[in-house]
Amino acid sequence: MRESEPKIPTADILHVPGNSAESLRCLLQDLSPPFTVGESVGIKIHWGERGNEGFLHPRYAREIVRWLTELGVRPFVFDTTVLYSGGRRSGEESLKTAAEHGFTEAYLECPVRIGDGMDGRDVVEIEGGGRHFPSVQAASILHKADAFVIFSHFKGHMVSSFGGAIKNISMGMASRAQKQRMHADAHPVLSRKRCIRCGLCVEVCPAGAAAMPADGDPVYDLNACIGCAQCIALCPQSALKILWDTDITVFQEKLVETAAAIWRVIGPKTVIVNALIRIVTECDCLPGNHPVIAEDAGFVAGRHPVLVDEESIRRIGAEPFDRAHAQIPWQRQFAYAREIGFTP
Ligand code: SF4
Ligand code: SF4
Repeated sequence: MRESEPKIPTADILHVPGNSAESLRCLLQDLSPPFTVGESVGIKIHWGERGNEGFLHPRYAREIVRWLTELGVRPFVFDTTVLYSGGRRSGEESLKTAAEHGFTEAYLECPVRIGDGMDGRDVVEIEGGGRHFPSVQAASILHKADAFVIFSHFKGHMVSSFGGAIKNISMGMASRAQKQRMHADAHPVLSRKRCIRCGLCVEVCPAGAAAMPADGDPVYDLNACIGCAQCIALCPQSALKILWDTDITVFQEKLVETAAAIWRVIGPKTVIVNALIRIVTECDCLPGNHPVIAEDAGFVAGRHPVLVDEESIRRIGAEPFDRAHAQIPWQRQFAYAREIGFTP
């Protein structure tokens, strides 16, 4: 490994076709990352919510681990706790889900960690900037590793249209409180004629905001609702839609603003890799087997999340995301990133 400037200039992007671990290895071997021998390097991944069938197989994360090990650095894999009930709300639950999905230390050949601590409270406050967050609360892991690889499964998402590197840094490395700050403007609204009163929305609500009266339709206490969208995502009848307290563009901005704040801390020592494979409608945060909306398009890597996500959209095309999530102004993410200087 060279310890000089990275071979990839900040604005450059690499791409390889294919969907195998070998394809990913080819891409990695063309990188000359900003890591120094002996450094600890955190690989941010998403090992899939319990019951999700769309997450990336751990063979890809293991390929990154092997690449880093050969470079002489000390890799580990991590994710953070989440807001909603399921298999990742606490560190203990999340590591169990990781193991069930094959992300074990034995298979990955490196430690598997929770970036914000087993109780989700190991967090740091960092400087924000922009319209929404004077400060941002993030997992303390961003101060506990020397460098990072952000490895993201590029696919659809119900409130940001697509999820890639920006979202993996933002939602993926934010504290639970910061996740809530980003989601706070979204609440469920019921279509009565679709609802079959199965009670699932009540069962999954982590805030006790949903209730099922004995003689009526489910009701939602919007004061108690934390906007996690779990009920909306899991309703088997699609009877719940998102009601935004503000324009939906605000969510796009909050997502980007959080990513930008974290990037200011980790950016100089971070490599971005997106996997454009198994491109499904929904995030790996949701249980289920979601439909594939686009052909596999290989792997994209670079030194800036905005550029890597833009290139990912360019290679797949916007149409599959617009069809799956009509009326989500995802373009605002890129425009706002430029407005707040979140670019190379
Ligand atoms: S999950 Fe959907 S169908 Fe079931 S009670 Fe809630 S709104 Fe109705
Ligand atoms: S009612 Fe609110 S807090 Fe409860 S699951 Fe739905 S969005 Fe989340």
